[in-house]
This record gives sequence, C-alpha cells and structure tokens, in this order.
Amino acid sequence: MEDYLVKALCYKGSIRAYALCATNTIAEAQQRHDTWSSSTAALGRTMVGSLLLGATLKGEDKLTVKVQGNGPAGAIIVDSNGSGDVKGYIKNPHVSLKLNDSGKIDVRGAVGDVGVFTVIKDLGLKETFSGQTPIVSGEIGEDFTYFMTVSEQIPSAIGLSVLVDTDDTVKAAGGFMIQVMPGADEKTIDFIEKRLLEVPMVSRLLEDGESPEQILERLLGEGEVDILEKMPVQFKCDCSKDKFGTAIIAVGLDEINAMIEEDHGAEAVCQFCGNKYQYSETDLIELREEAIKNTLKGREE
Ligand SMILES: [Zn+2]
Repeated sequence: MEDYLVKALCYKGSIRAYALCATNTIAEAQQRHDTWSSSTAALGRTMVGSLLLGATLKGEDKLTVKVQGNGPAGAIIVDSNGSGDVKGYIKNPHVSLKLNDSGKIDVRGAVGDVGVFTVIKDLGLKETFSGQTPIVSGEIGEDFTYFMTVSEQIPSAIGLSVLVDTDDTVKAAGGFMIQVMPGADEKTIDFIEKRLLEVPMVSRLLEDGESPEQILERLLGEGEVDILEKMPVQFKCDCSKDKFGTAIIAVGLDEINAMIEEDHGAEAVCQFCGNKYQYSETDLIELREEAIKNTLKGREE
C-alpha cells in the first residue's frame, strides 16, 4: 500500500479526524539510520505523530517535534510540514530492549519517562511558535495526546503504531488523530471513547490490508466519515551540497584553512537523512573565497 494521509470531518463537523499509512516512510527512516527495534519504534511513532500534527498546517508551513527524555535513546528530532513531508533522527539509533510486560517493544524504556516534549511551528511569519509539555508517558502516543490537549487546548485522541519485524525492518506503521471540536455532544464522545478501546493497533490493521479510510470508520462509526482530503506522505530531506557549503562558510576562515591544509578535504553528513557530501580541496578553496568575501563585506558595512 502507498503511504497517504486522509483528513475527515464527522458528526456535522464536531469531530475532526486524520489517519495515515506510513509504512514505507518509516521503513526508509529505519534503513537510513540503521535503527534497532526500540529506537525504530520510538523514532517511527514520533514521525507518524509529527505527520499528523503537520496535517493541521497549510502546505508550506512546518513544524519540529523534539522529544528529550532521560532514556538511552536520547533526543528524537523530527521535522514535518503541511505537505506530508517528514524527516527525523534519534540520537542513539541502536537501542533494542527486551519486550515489555505486555509483550510489546519497550519504547518508554528507550525514551525515558522524565523529560520535555516540544513542538516548534514555523508558519512563515517573523517569529516561530513553540509549546512545551512534560513527557507524561514516554510511549510517544500519550505524549502527543497530552501536548494537544494541554498546550493546543484541543481534546484529542492520538494513536501511533509501528510494527517492527524480528530483523528490525518495519512491517507496518501508521496512526490516527481524533479531535473534539466545541459543540460535540456527549453521546458522540462516549461512542468514540468506547470504539477507541475496542480497535486493534493501527499497524496490525494496516498489515492486514486495511486502509486509513477503513480505520477511521472503525473508530468513528460506519458511514459517519466524510473524507475531505487525501494527501501522500513521504520521507523527504531538503539537504544539499550547497546548503552544507553555506554551513562550512559560516564556520570561519581558520576552520576552513585547517580543512584544506590538514585534511585536504571535508565530509558533511546530514543528521536527518544520513546523506554524505564530499568537499575536495578545490571545493574548499572556493568556499574559502566566499568566506573571505563575506568578511570583507562585513567590514564595509
Ligand atoms: Zn538530509
């Protein structure tokens, strides 16, 4: 199944809902970062959650989710936008803990249960907006839910799910977000709450071939879901040799001279996607010229 996200309105607009299949996207992140089971699930869930939050933005707008817990996985950083693009990394990709008491991948053990959950939104304005809540669970899904309810003040139910195979590859990944708008009636909310308890994990449903649309019907009631939009989602990094070149110029002349004279070249590695960029001595001499021009310009101004 291709990766995509659906946006829906239900119960006369009083319930807003999103669901997605992101199996290929999370599989690509797993391969690019060579993550082990607990790290795969932690990074994958954060990426799925970020895609859901990103879906509430307009196309060009973007956000960053940072999960900084006290566990061995270290920080998780994910960027997403309103067009379904996502990229992300986890500080320690090689965490693989024993299954937890429920027989599931131990995400809390990897992330930790004390720390900070931060969302920074860049809506193309002068300033960015950021919201922060404490990590309440470390299982990621509950942390997204807590953030939405407390920081964004939108009562929400969020499910994030990554099914990891025994060889660490991703079998299925996806999730949903249900938001209660003002004016939703109690009966509807009770009904959805009951459904939430009964529905199997999203990744299992996806593995069985169910679509995001079908998953929303399971959660919200058959015939109740009015799909507004379907949007592809994908792993996408916007790094390039030029961008890292600009970063090299910014480190200053001394550093660039050292790269030329001592190392006779340089390599930049993108944290988000793992792509590597090589700079030959000739490349570096060009960058040094740029750096010198910038310094002179700085003096003139
Ligand atoms: Zn990159």
